[in-house]
Amino acid sequence: MTTKIAGKTLEEWKQECPLLGQIMATEEVFWANSQLESCNNRTINTQLGITDIEAAEQRLLRFAPYLAKVFPEIQEKNGIIESKLVPIPQMQQKLTEMYKQDIEGTLYLKCDSHLPISGSVKARGGIYEILKVAEEIATKHNMLSLSDDYSVLSEEKFRNLFSNYSIVVGSTGNLGLSIGIMSARLGFKVIVHMSSDAKQWKKDLLRQKGAVVIEHNTDYGKAVAAGRQQSQEDPKSHFVDDENSSTLFLGYAVAAKRLQKQLLDMKIPVDQEHPLFVYIPCGVGGAPGGITFGLRTVFGDNVHCFYAEPTHSPAMLLGLMTRKHDEVSAQQFGIDNITDADGLAVGRPSGFVGKTLEKDISGVFTIQDERLYPILRNLADTEGIFVEPSAVAGFIGPVQLFASAGGKEYLKRNCLEQKMKNTSHILWATGGGMVPKDIMDNFYQKGANS
Ligand SMILES: *Cc1c(COP(=O)(O)O)cnc(C)c1O
Repeated sequence: MTTKIAGKTLEEWKQECPLLGQIMATEEVFWANSQLESCNNRTINTQLGITDIEAAEQRLLRFAPYLAKVFPEIQEKNGIIESKLVPIPQMQQKLTEMYKQDIEGTLYLKCDSHLPISGSVKARGGIYEILKVAEEIATKHNMLSLSDDYSVLSEEKFRNLFSNYSIVVGSTGNLGLSIGIMSARLGFKVIVHMSSDAKQWKKDLLRQKGAVVIEHNTDYGKAVAAGRQQSQEDPKSHFVDDENSSTLFLGYAVAAKRLQKQLLDMKIPVDQEHPLFVYIPCGVGGAPGGITFGLRTVFGDNVHCFYAEPTHSPAMLLGLMTRKHDEVSAQQFGIDNITDADGLAVGRPSGFVGKTLEKDISGVFTIQDERLYPILRNLADTEGIFVEPSAVAGFIGPVQLFASAGGKEYLKRNCLEQKMKNTSHILWATGGGMVPKDIMDNFYQKGANS
């Protein structure tokens, strides 16, 4: 008997998905989603909408005075956790040389790599979810009302209150950092279940901030399962569910509203004649999913969202391509899910994200680990910006958009070929701001040797 994967044999899947052979051979691919649909003639595939994004934005505003008080680094920004959008013309030139491929339009970097407090995109969703939990507990105990100045939350009585509760999360590293730092600061007990690929410095830093770190010899999915089970046994415990949380998702989605304002301020148009292309590294899908949801809500069909995954961890690619989402994993297709790219070592995608956005994600492309280091080094040399390897996974996207059969077909199908010179491409840099200097030096060196 041949074993089946989500109801079909491997041969049947290969028939249905022509790219599967290359994906299984861990070759780089660029896959355009044929299920993509216009936002105009339908409601997005979810109950969530613009009012939920605005409510999340409002909640972050309520917390701003508290955040400004306890994190001096964002005092100047009045407690708003946001990153810069910067043009990277020299890197654009460099990419053109590296891959001998013209890139029409203008490249920008969204520097979530340098978001305050936890130095990665997780400072959006992760911190937001913890703030929401804290608000719920404090209001339930009649110690806080929504119209209060939230800087009172730094008082001892709130720390005492929160110390009765625990926050539990499973993570490959960066989510753990954002949850751990924020929870510990508020006074929660916090337990982070870490997968085997989590870096030592991230575990050390978390313990130093006051989190309990539990190390697992298994991958991300198993670490999350362990956290979920531990949390279920304790009613005063909140589990941050990276695979299913709509709260995390909305925290990420706020990025779109902020980006809309940044683009306006920078006089960068986004409309039918000026499309916006966004390339985001994808792990389980929460961060890119939330951002995509926000962007499609704000910009509609004028935004095109592509995800980047390592060739060895094409979780979201397999989930979307087979339309089986979390019923399939990289391992089932014989792919080992071993990658240097922190945060991207995920074998099974979020079913919630895939099902919600299967008609909104433009496509997924993969990149080999070896390519990450030279890109990282070149970004540092040309623009002076240092990010972690996973954060540059998206850089191959605009190259492949013009070079690959899948990319060309996408542009043609959507009548975009004539508009590409007016296009803004945003490479979403997802992490790196907290990487210790010696480790960053090491990444930079690796970029010269490979
Ligand atoms: C978490 C993370 C991602 C991807 O986010 P998911 O929600 O797991 O898809 C990308 N890059 C970095 C650096 C991350 O930490």
